[in-house]
Amino acid sequence: MAWDFETDPAFQTELDWIDSFVRDKVEPVDFIVPEPLDMANELRNAVIKPLQDQVKARGLWAFHLGKELGGPGRGQVQLALMNEILGRSRAAPVVFGCQAPDSGNAEVLAHFGTPEQKKIYLAPLLANEICSSFAMTEPQAGSDPKMFEMTAVSEGDEWVLNGKKWFATNAVFASFFITMAITDPDAANPYKRMSIFIVRADTPGIRFIRNMQVVNEPGNGSHGYIAFDDVRISADHLLGPRGEAFRVTQVRLGGGRVHHAMRSLAQCRIAFDMMCERALSRQTQGTNLSDKQLVQGMIADSWMQLEQFRLLLMRTAWKIDKEQDYKKVRKDIAAVKAVMPRVLHDIAANALQIHGSLGMTNEVPFIDQIITSFRMGLADGPTEVHKVTLAKQILRDYKPSADDFPTHHTLRRHEAALHQYADLIERLGIELPDRS
Ligand SMILES: Cc1cc2nc3c(=O)[nH]c(=O)nc-3n(C[C@H](O)[C@H](O)[C@H](O)COP(=O)(O)OP(=O)(O)OC[C@H]3O[C@@H](n4cnc5c(N)ncnc54)[C@H](O)[C@@H]3O)c2cc1C
Repeated sequence: MAWDFETDPAFQTELDWIDSFVRDKVEPVDFIVPEPLDMANELRNAVIKPLQDQVKARGLWAFHLGKELGGPGRGQVQLALMNEILGRSRAAPVVFGCQAPDSGNAEVLAHFGTPEQKKIYLAPLLANEICSSFAMTEPQAGSDPKMFEMTAVSEGDEWVLNGKKWFATNAVFASFFITMAITDPDAANPYKRMSIFIVRADTPGIRFIRNMQVVNEPGNGSHGYIAFDDVRISADHLLGPRGEAFRVTQVRLGGGRVHHAMRSLAQCRIAFDMMCERALSRQTQGTNLSDKQLVQGMIADSWMQLEQFRLLLMRTAWKIDKEQDYKKVRKDIAAVKAVMPRVLHDIAANALQIHGSLGMTNEVPFIDQIITSFRMGLADGPTEVHKVTLAKQILRDYKPSADDFPTHHTLRRHEAALHQYADLIERLGIELPDRS
């Protein structure tokens, strides 16, 4: 497959606009609005809504969506270039209408929703009149969804849900949840036992046990630990085919994972730029830090990690655009997801070290970025699981060797070469050393 690294000049103009708009108008919002999805916050609405209007007027709203859903439909490469800027700010994805987890939930609703579901849930979600939460993980099981226990039992024209969900991001602000429950416990195939449902957050029987707070997050925690006690929803709130939860969630998670990586790139860039500036600004033992070879080593390592990650990410975005099917790019997405936490962690750690004591404080972003790197290594599935997926996909293209020795075994190749050139060697009368 060939690839093309050029950015369309017309889109570069848009990127330049996004860059200065985010820097001048959106980044300051992070300092006055801690939770950009808290629609009950008057200041949030007064500040964010006019910014959203400017983005809409510019045709950049909900950039992750195809034209049929009201987005510009410009594909993942352009989205990556844009997210690389938006990831600098907590508020920016909300201002541009492409924030997680709503973006992934919108994709699922768009793919599998009925016309009625799209009207009630998707339309206001796309307009950011409401927000949503994805409640899949359970307190006893996260990495292995086959171990989930929440049930949905069909009773007349209703489903009755019972169980608990854990770490449902933004549940506290959400108008509805997209959740996963066992509907067909006796299905022979364990991947066909669960289904996806839409559940309004104000449905009787939903009980917040508590909100979990990741240590570097503002407020009082926005990741819901939620009990579903005899929660009754109408039969038409099944999302996608019954028993197909695994297939439905792959549509949601494929895009979400790459979009997280795109935004993480922005945080890597911030840490890297700060590291370089500090190295040139700070002196010790008579020279700048930038003159010390061990510091130069950190800068060189960080640049290489950043550029390798960016290339892998951009190529993955480009492949998604070409294939138009997340399944065909599964290997690349798993690699991007697995490498991202390590790159963010390492670059932020180097930046922290070069800043000395200042690096440890909340006056610079490095501790926050390091915690975020761990968050990225868990949200949407732990790194280990993605490495397993990657390795399995890679190994599909290989075969075992035909005998006890590797196909690339030197003696085997030497013998083959002698055989291939036997006539010539004999004609020239050359004596070659015996390697057997
Ligand atoms: C900030 C944040 C936001 C989140 N948002 C959401 C959300 O919105 N909705 C939602 O449903 N969930 C959400 N989650 C939960 C997330 O999906 C789970 O944390 C993740 O799937 C891991 O599950 P677990 O925490 O139960 O860890 P476990 O499943 O207990 O795994 C613990 C550790 O075991 C190791 N491990 C697991 N499987 C393997 C394996 N196959 N091979 C080798 N080692 C393995 C890994 O090191 C892993 O970190 C969020 C998590 C975080 C941290």
